[in-house]
Amino acid sequence: MKVTEGQYFISEIFRSIQGEGPFAGVNSLFIRFQFCQLTCNWCDTKYTWYQKSGKFSLYSEKELQKIIHESPARHIIFTGGEPTLYRLDKLRVKEKLFHVETNGDIIPTLPLQITLADGTVIEREAMKNDILKQFYWIVSPKLKNAYQLINKEKLDFWAKQTQAYFKFIIRSNEDLEEIAYWKNSCNINPDKIYVGLEGISLHSQLQSPLVEEIIARGYHFSPRLHIMIWGNMRGK
Ligand code: SF4
Repeated sequence: MKVTEGQYFISEIFRSIQGEGPFAGVNSLFIRFQFCQLTCNWCDTKYTWYQKSGKFSLYSEKELQKIIHESPARHIIFTGGEPTLYRLDKLRVKEKLFHVETNGDIIPTLPLQITLADGTVIEREAMKNDILKQFYWIVSPKLKNAYQLINKEKLDFWAKQTQAYFKFIIRSNEDLEEIAYWKNSCNINPDKIYVGLEGISLHSQLQSPLVEEIIARGYHFSPRLHIMIWGNMRGK
């Protein structure tokens, strides 16, 4: 399968509240893009990249713009999967605020040609530079707990972006050590770091020793409101 410019493969579109990060609680329209170039072991949206587990639909730029324009939600969240596989700049609509949830492994302002693990080929042109200032970028680099390796050059790029925030999902104090390493290596402002707890149950989100350690290190704690309210229900 080949995905080319102007094609948007979408896993699901739904209204909810933003569950995590600096905009937690904000009433939003979510557009979840199909496909991801990573294969994190604890991924809770495997249906976006594991072909046997998910359905998806093809949309045009104009169809998505219409959905965004007509939504009562002012905040539009591009999530995935990995949204930066697509030309997000072409989906911009006036009077809406756009957030991109990305793993940070793709630089949106560079052209992309990539072959995914399932053989899908995705090509897109570079996005316009101004989206770096016009979108909010919620960058969620995947730690060793997801069996992924962070690319320093790419994290350096995001650390320099004024509109980028960082969200890390942790299991243990070891993960906090890894965050400290990347914070220091890439000079990330700790005031832009949000740390949430891995897990898909309410109980997993209520671990006071880890939250106290997050506070002591000067990071923000990110609730995962959708998990706390609905568990791991899809479309929430
Ligand atoms: S980057 Fe996100 S969507 Fe992609 S595999 Fe990892 S957790 Fe899943």
